[in-house]
Amino acid sequence: MSLTSDPNDPRLTHGPDSEPVDQAAAYLVLSDEDRAAGYIRPVRATYVHEVCGTSTTMARPIAETYARDPGFYGSTYCVACRMHRPVGADGEFVWDDGTKVGT
Ligand SMILES: [Zn+2]
Repeated sequence: MSLTSDPNDPRLTHGPDSEPVDQAAAYLVLSDEDRAAGYIRPVRATYVHEVCGTSTTMARPIAETYARDPGFYGSTYCVACRMHRPVGADGEFVWDDGTKVGT
C-alpha cells in the first residue's frame, strides 16, 4: 500500500464496498505542505469499526490528513471486514477516544 497526493492517481479506489476486497494499492493524502498548514483535530491513528469491534491502525500521513481535514475521506478500511465503509457523523467508525471518524 502506498500513498499519493495526486487525486487522479489510477491506483485509487472510490466509495464504500459491499463485498470484501483487498486494501487499495494507493491511498490519497494531503501533500506534506498542506498537512503542515495545521491540524484542526488531534492526530489519531487507530479507529474501531462499530459493526465488528475491530481496531485498524492507519499510516501516519493518513492520520495527519484526517487531523488537517476531518471530512477529507468518505470511507475507510476495516481489516476484519476487509471493506471500505462510510465515515462521518453517520458513519461506522470511532477513534479510540470515542469520537466519530470524519467529524
Ligand atoms: Zn469491521
